Amino acid sequence: MKVEVITTGTELLLGEILNTNFTWLAQQLNLRGFDVLYQTTVGDNPKRMKEILDIAAKRADIIITSGGLGPTRGDITKEMIAEHCGVDMYMNLEVWNHIHDLLSKRNICIAENNEKQALVPSGAIVLHNEAGTAPGLILEHGGKTFIMLPGPPFELKNVCEKELFPYFEQRFPHLGIIKSHTLKLRGIGESNLADILDEIIFHQSNPTIALYARRGEILIRLTAKASTEEGADALIANMQEKVEKVVGTYVYGYDDETLPEVLGKELLSRQQTIAFAESCTGGLVSSMMTDVPGSSEYLKGSVISYTDVIKNQVIHVSKTTLSKKGAVSEETAIEMARGAREVIGSDIAISITGLAGPGGGTRKKPVGLVYIAVADANGEACRKFNFGGTRTQIKHRAAMAAMGFALDRLKESSHTNAEETIHDHDADR
Ligand code: AMP
Ligand code: MG
Repeated sequence: MKVEVITTGTELLLGEILNTNFTWLAQQLNLRGFDVLYQTTVGDNPKRMKEILDIAAKRADIIITSGGLGPTRGDITKEMIAEHCGVDMYMNLEVWNHIHDLLSKRNICIAENNEKQALVPSGAIVLHNEAGTAPGLILEHGGKTFIMLPGPPFELKNVCEKELFPYFEQRFPHLGIIKSHTLKLRGIGESNLADILDEIIFHQSNPTIALYARRGEILIRLTAKASTEEGADALIANMQEKVEKVVGTYVYGYDDETLPEVLGKELLSRQQTIAFAESCTGGLVSSMMTDVPGSSEYLKGSVISYTDVIKNQVIHVSKTTLSKKGAVSEETAIEMARGAREVIGSDIAISITGLAGPGGGTRKKPVGLVYIAVADANGEACRKFNFGGTRTQIKHRAAMAAMGFALDRLKESSHTNAEETIHDHDADR
């Protein structure tokens, strides 16, 4: 079933409001197995709305509109669809009584133009709108289905969930479903990942595979289409196994899981506590960690050691290290982690020191250079990164890398005591 969604309203074209009706509808329709192939936005203009309806009726089976069902002159969707289908409108008494009841309950006088909202195209099915005055409507014409939904997002959702989706289940029972599952990866660049998965991506059909790079992490989204949810799950599981066979070591979580949540769970299950010594991230890592409810169970505390004085006085980085090696160096990072672990008394401590820019970079120490060190019962280790991007992006990437380092370290500690040696990490984003 090919669907075109037409969102109406000049305010959308002016960029005054976000088109949330479309994103919500698209998700819901895809879930139910509809092929959402086109989306158009048109202003409250009769000529252009007529053009859009003509185009949509040619290329889609189901045309869904949102908005333009209100009482004012600018609300023209229903009128234009009736005209397109060549049908008259009549006053629907049930709708009229509902408008009457709703407005009197809210102590609002009925205006003359409310009558317009009770007009229904001949032959249309009325979708009751308990939350508002404009009903939704379904009109079948020339083998096409026109579905009109109210513009206010709350009303649109209400009409869909209570009226339209149950109608879909009866009218289109065999569409199947589309389901997505997301793998979240870190520690690998997007281009490397695309290279490794090239063969699998090339042969994809169902499920489809899509890679998305987000700040500090990469998402692999697997989307399957099947007649039942179990069928889609099986297709996804099969593909997930293939993907994880080659890049499983980089997967840290799934779907809505976040890195701070995953790290928190790992710390909890091992009954370990953590602390951070943050320089260039300015507290960002600790902020992200404490976004997770219950994080006081494992995050003991952090130090924002932004200046040399604090690095020295609070977490005991030696003055010699600071002056000889500089604040952004492997040695300083290691001493920051060691000091924070001692001062705060945590099982593991992570330090972050780097240049977030935009100024202050040199040829030897460019903007984006970040050292992240760890100190725990197994000793100390450091990783060096060269991040790209703006100041905010560099801070975020460094924060993700710091939590990722902690996670790796916890996992490694279960099978080896070996100290990690310093090496450059792939940070292609
Ligand atoms: P309308 O029925 O076109 O008068 O729309 C009523 C109200 O619903 C508008 O003022 C917007 O605030 C909201 N609205 C309409 N269309 C959308 C849309 N596509 N996404 C989000 N909100 C919308
Ligand atoms: Mg409008």
